[in-house]
This record gives sequence, structure tokens and C-alpha cells, in this order.
Amino acid sequence: MHDFIYNAHPARVIFGPGTMSTVGAEAERLGMRRALVLSTPGRRSSADAVADMLGLLGAGTFAGAKMHTPVTVTDAAMKLVEALGVDGLVAVGGGSTIGLGKALALRTDLPQIVIPTTYAGSEVTPIIGETKNGLKTTQTTAKVLPETVIYDVELTLSLPVGVSATSGMNAIAHAVEALYARDRNPIISMMAVEGVHALVSSLPAIVRDPNDVEARSNAQYGAWLCGTCLGAVGMSLHHKLCHTLGGTFDLPHAETHTAVLPHALQYNAPAVPEAISALRGALDHDEPARALYELAGQLGVSRALKDFGMPEDAIDRAADLALANPYWNPRRLERDGVRACIAAAWAGDPPHAF
Ligand code: NAD
Repeated sequence: MHDFIYNAHPARVIFGPGTMSTVGAEAERLGMRRALVLSTPGRRSSADAVADMLGLLGAGTFAGAKMHTPVTVTDAAMKLVEALGVDGLVAVGGGSTIGLGKALALRTDLPQIVIPTTYAGSEVTPIIGETKNGLKTTQTTAKVLPETVIYDVELTLSLPVGVSATSGMNAIAHAVEALYARDRNPIISMMAVEGVHALVSSLPAIVRDPNDVEARSNAQYGAWLCGTCLGAVGMSLHHKLCHTLGGTFDLPHAETHTAVLPHALQYNAPAVPEAISALRGALDHDEPARALYELAGQLGVSRALKDFGMPEDAIDRAADLALANPYWNPRRLERDGVRACIAAAWAGDPPHAF
């Protein structure tokens, strides 16, 4: 057992089918009288249903959330917050909607209820990334941590299997890197193992039957645990690569995580025997990187960055960018190895020693 500091983030988590109906009571608990409900354009119907449940406590709906939290969208939502005298936020959706809620909380300190509908895990992190003039900057501040999270499995039944698979892999990536974080601790490592196990055992069942409520519940449980890992300890090469690739080549967030994860883990494997041993148990496989690659194949999602429009001649640039301003990493970052790691993710090859 090594020395550690464990910083728990406060969170009130309400878990179970039908729990969306508690939103009014939760809003009241937080002192909301004029809550604004947020969603992406595609999820307006869910946002309207929540607004109906809020009744007189609802001030309106803003269904304009977009991926990567563009400040132009936040500015438009801020106008509504001011015009309507909003005193609380209810985000209904995935990381994009939750990002908008956090951006508004950053500017106003308003309390937030989040009703997540994907597995990305943003609802339990104090992290906010915002995009201005094409540049995404990320900060960590307790101001954006949601006060209450309602995990209602019923809202996830409509999540397409492809997004379910990739946002689940995105969540697994948080737990994998938490297991070898410089500031890791035994509580978060325990959550990471449990979170990975819950997701790897539920995602294939969801792909077979998207209406499998039990598998969907397990995936939500896993997403919560993995998101908690992301919020609690530092991330390394995998997250750095995904942020660099996503930001520079405009690649889709969760799909990029899915393609990169087996290779980033393979790169770090020689330096992190304890994490590999924990992942062997969670994944029930001797080679964790290989297991994640096979899982993505089994889920039927792409494992190749080239499928998302990344040109082959961008591999070198990506390697340079990943090394220019690196996150702490358990294994020393060597350009040839990092380049080979990106090249394998680009091609969709199985992970091999880098
Ligand atoms: P998303 O929120 O962008 O949703 C993907 C698509 O699925 C959207 O079109 C959305 O409308 C749709 N959708 C969501 N839930 C649905 C449902 N139940 N049924 C049908 N359609 C549904 O995807 P995401 O992967 O959850 O979030 C990605 C974003 O979150 C990125 O911007 C990423 O940077 C951010 N993120 C932030 C953190 C953090 O801690 N700050 C963590 C993870 C991800």
C-alpha cells in the first residue's frame, strides 16, 4: 500500500428505473423555483418531458447543446438564463448537454441536476472543456460539479447501440487510466475495477438487445463509477492523445477513445504491472489491451481513426502535438513508440508492443 490523498467530490446520486419523476422534489431540495431544462436538439422531447414534471418549478427549455461546449451556444443560453430569471439548471442528456450545464454553472454558480442519458461520465466530474474560435480549453473547478445526479435507466433505452458502445468505451478509458494515475488511491482503483467489469459485462448485452433494462442499468452503474474515477485522479497518455486528435482533426469524441484505448494501454503496459493485473481480473483476459480491442470488435464499432476522416499524413503531426505539452505518464514518452501507437489506432490494427 503506497501513501495517498483521497479527495471525495460531493454527489447526491439517485439510481433506478423511473427516478426521473423525482426531479421536482430534487429541484425543491436545491431551492430551485425557476429551473431551465437543457438538451441537445435531438433530445428535446426528453427535455420537454422533464419540464412537464417540474411543473411550476420550470422556467423553460433550451435544446441547443452541442458537442465540445462552444461558447457561442453558452452565450445564447446565458441570455435565456438572464431573461427568464433562472435559478437552477437541469441537464438531460450526454456529455454535450452536461457540458452546457457546467458552462452555465461556471458563469452563474447555479445549482445543477443532471439526468445522464449516455455513459460518458461527465455528470460526476468537476471538469469542463469549452471551445472558442476552434480551440478547446479544459479546466477543473468545483463550481461546475453537479449537485444531484439522477440515473434513470429508462432514458437510456433509446440510446443507439453505436453510441452506447462508444460512450461505454469512453467511460472504460477513464477507469483504465485511473488505475495507473500518479495520484491513484485504493478507493478510486476499487471503483475503476468495478466500473470496467460492469461495462464490459453489459455492453455486449446492450448491443444484442438495446431494451435489456438490466444490462442498461449495469452500464449506467459502470458509467457512474468510471466517471467518478475521471473526476478524482489525473489522466495520462490515452486522454492526451484523444484530446489532441479530437481537437486537431475534428474527430468524434467517444469513437476516438474507442480506437485509441487498446493502443495507449498497450504502450503503458510494461510500466504498470499492478494496473494490468487489476484489469486482467476486471476483463477476465490475460492481455487487457487485446481484450479491449476485441470488445470494440464484438460491439461492432470502428477501431480505426482513418474511418473518421483522419488522413494518414496526420500521424506524424499528431505524435508531435502529443509530445509537445504532455500529461504526466507512467512510461516515458518516446516519439517512435507514441507514433506507432497512433499509427496502429489510425489503421485499426490489433495492439502490439510499442
Ligand atoms: P453526446 O452528449 O454528444 O451525445 C451523442 C448524441 O447522442 C447526441 O446527438 C445526443 O443528442 C444523442 N443522445 C444522447 N442521449 C441519447 C439517448 N438516450 N437516446 C438517443 N439519443 C441520445 O455524447 P457523449 O459521448 O455523452 O458526450 C461527449 C461530450 O462530452 C464531449 O464534448 C466530451 O468532451 C464531453 N465529456 C466531458 C467529460 C467531462 O468530465 N467534462 C467527460 C466525458 C465526456
